[in-house]
Amino acid sequence: QRLRMRLMLLDYNMKYETGKSFFVPDALSRALLPTGPSAEKDILEEDIEVFVNSIVSTLPCSDMKLEIIRRVVKEDKMFQMLRAAIENGDWSSFKNTEFFRERGSLTFVEGLILKGTRIFIPKSLRNDILSQIHSGHLGINKCLARSRETVWWPGLSVEIKRLVENCSNCLENRTNPAEPLIPTQVPGRPWEVVGTDLFEYNRQMFICMQDYFSKYIELITLSSTNTAAIKQAYLSIFSRHGVPSVVRSDNGTALVSFEMKQFSRELGFKIKTSSPHFPQSNSQAERAVEICKGILKKNKDPYLGLLAHRSSPLDCGVSPAELLFGRKIRTTLPTVPEQLQPSWPDLNKYREDCESRNQKNKTYYDQRHRARHLSALEVGTKVWITDLKRYGKVVDKGFNAREYFVESNGHRIRRNRRFLIPSNQNTIVSPWSTYPVIGTSSTSGMDGSESVGRNNQEGGREESRQVVVPVRGSATFDGRYMTRSGRVVKPSRRYQT
Ligand SMILES: [Zn+2]
Repeated sequence: QRLRMRLMLLDYNMKYETGKSFFVPDALSRALLPTGPSAEKDILEEDIEVFVNSIVSTLPCSDMKLEIIRRVVKEDKMFQMLRAAIENGDWSSFKNTEFFRERGSLTFVEGLILKGTRIFIPKSLRNDILSQIHSGHLGINKCLARSRETVWWPGLSVEIKRLVENCSNCLENRTNPAEPLIPTQVPGRPWEVVGTDLFEYNRQMFICMQDYFSKYIELITLSSTNTAAIKQAYLSIFSRHGVPSVVRSDNGTALVSFEMKQFSRELGFKIKTSSPHFPQSNSQAERAVEICKGILKKNKDPYLGLLAHRSSPLDCGVSPAELLFGRKIRTTLPTVPEQLQPSWPDLNKYREDCESRNQKNKTYYDQRHRARHLSALEVGTKVWITDLKRYGKVVDKGFNAREYFVESNGHRIRRNRRFLIPSNQNTIVSPWSTYPVIGTSSTSGMDGSESVGRNNQEGGREESRQVVVPVRGSATFDGRYMTRSGRVVKPSRRYQT
């Protein structure tokens, strides 16, 4: 025991090491103290006191709290056994326990058991300590770090993790990290997949449609946003370029109405929509809208602006018109006629270029957003819906791997995984109720000389879950104590002998 105390003084950073590793510092410490045995003992005692005081004074708990811990541990059976094992070195009853593994760093000091500089907390006080560790609702890692500086008991980290994961306050304020971007697939041919969106500019409604392959943009004014007007616009575009296989859009009701779906069946194209509030999945159409707005804003005649966009080379060096029509289109810029002869750019090379660029964008996006994959959700899982701020239940998988249908308040809603946080709130019992409370616990008061009033078990049974022990001999203590919830706790009779 003394030796360990001394070693802790000398080698502060070794405190998490096992007993075996103390050989070397042991030899060194002897060499450092050439004084006689009695003098050495005095110095040690002083040192130990200084050391303990230094630990105690840096602990984020008051003297009162420490006094409470000292009182409670006296009654704790585990503490008695530990103290005995530390003092006589007989760990046989702790084989295969965490205590045994940590025996090299456990010390008994001034009525407390320390693991390094961390105070061993008996069962009855752990709930209180846990709630203090999590006060401020910090995350798991912060809570773990907080505990590592102060307190210890076997299984502490697991309990902290469980506490934080099940804290409804934390859950309801959490947001999921971004998921890794799924790079947009470049379609196999021009005008196979198009994205579309409605937007308003200068009190005029527009519909914009962009080919996912060539990035060619069509822009049409709408007299109204009813289905009939949109159908007319679609038909006018399709009459020029043909009917695409897939039209992607966001969830604008006019674009996905029942009539539009019927229309799509008649013409033979599919409508694919993105999850609500998750425009990333329709990002191409969003970008096209931005381009269109730019054209409308900057050009006196938007048609000339469109002509410029369609004829200007993209990043890959070829223009949307070349990728869609297989020829350059003539503009207001002087061009030699040979340049305007039909000639297909290398479409395979273009596809590869696009895909590698998308991959690069993905890497950049993933890094910037620290993207992480989110676990898949089972049907039936309770979830917190972050944008609606209420709970729901997963009732079905969505149209893609990251999408789910969730039932909440009797409504069936569609959400990307990013807006869903699984909640096991009602399936796991709160960790607060899993520990016996002092007074009701049969493990307390084992040692006859320390224990007082063993016949007062009924009195102890009435004690609250919030364990509060009066400090005997404390001048300020008046026999009453307020819990943090404001309730006055009467001390058990056992402490008043
Ligand atoms: Zn919390």
